Amino acid sequence: MELESILLPGVSDKRPIIIAGPCSAETEEQVMTTAKDLAKREIKIFRAGIWKPRTKPGGFEGVGSEGLAWLQKVKRETGMYVATEVANKKHVFETVKHGIDIIWIGARTSVNPFAVQEIAEALQVSGFMGIVLIKNPVNPDLELWIGAIERVYNAGIRKIGIIHRGFSTYDKKLYRNLPQWHVPIELKRRIPNIPIFSDPSHIGGKRELIASISQQAMDLNYDGLIIESHCNPDCAWSDKEQQITPDILSYILSMLVVREAKQTTENLEQLRQQIDEIDNELLGILAKRMRVSQEIGQYKKEHNMPVLQTVRYDEILENRISQAEKMGVGAGFMKTLLEAIHEESIRQQIEMLNK
Ligand code: PEP
Ligand code: MN
Repeated sequence: MELESILLPGVSDKRPIIIAGPCSAETEEQVMTTAKDLAKREIKIFRAGIWKPRTKPGGFEGVGSEGLAWLQKVKRETGMYVATEVANKKHVFETVKHGIDIIWIGARTSVNPFAVQEIAEALQVSGFMGIVLIKNPVNPDLELWIGAIERVYNAGIRKIGIIHRGFSTYDKKLYRNLPQWHVPIELKRRIPNIPIFSDPSHIGGKRELIASISQQAMDLNYDGLIIESHCNPDCAWSDKEQQITPDILSYILSMLVVREAKQTTENLEQLRQQIDEIDNELLGILAKRMRVSQEIGQYKKEHNMPVLQTVRYDEILENRISQAEKMGVGAGFMKTLLEAIHEESIRQQIEMLNK
């Protein structure tokens, strides 16, 4: 993809790019108070939801178009850039009319190709020149996420970024939305030049997790953070558990350790070479194991034995896991690895049986 830089005049090109502001625009006063406090702390991009997708009816669904005038006022009075979420073509036309700089497509929208297509076409028709950020769909479907990016790209938009906000889960003990870091990591491998933001507010769902998730995003070389910040979080009309005051936000940002991606890599190169060699050996050993397992399969076939021998499998699991622990390899990881190897052996042996 031939993407254009999303750097904005007056916004530092140092990581992380920060977008901050309330989950929802509630009143003109709440928007202005929060925005002015954020601007004082050098935040350059202000976010606020105008139309809110709520899980259940009856919740606060946003102030609607009226709030766009408040965002214009933020721009005028603080000089900040402004960002909001769109979920259909009417939202696109309204935001473009009001000079919104950054538009994001929410997780409940990026999941729906019809909705994304409608938004993409509306962006094209309206000649939007700003930045479009695409949140991951609620389910961890990488192709769906990439599909949404492609729809926006095909509409002629070139300033595109993505937001990792985590994936829905029934079990909300720790995270509101599971990070599943491997999904955005794979996306970055497939589209290396796309800027990526982390949304620790929606991943964690609680204030206490914002710092650690933000740090993890920095360690994974993310470009930016979008964080919900409200002048009075306890009274917020939506997502109050995860919003923080501008004061706390700037404290969290001041504590972030941002390691620079480009450092001398001489020593790293040597270590990487070792890893390449070890992986080679590992593959050789794995292939050898599969060959022996195929011989066993042949034997089972000739002696009319069932493929799965549970007692033997239990023994293997138990022995190897305790051995792994003694060697400093985690039991959970060893179990996952053995299960994957065993599943493949069984698959090959069954295939052999049916030949
Ligand atoms: C939001 O950013 O306020 C929002 C609704 O997020 P998401 O689409 O990630 O749920
Ligand atoms: Mn929110």
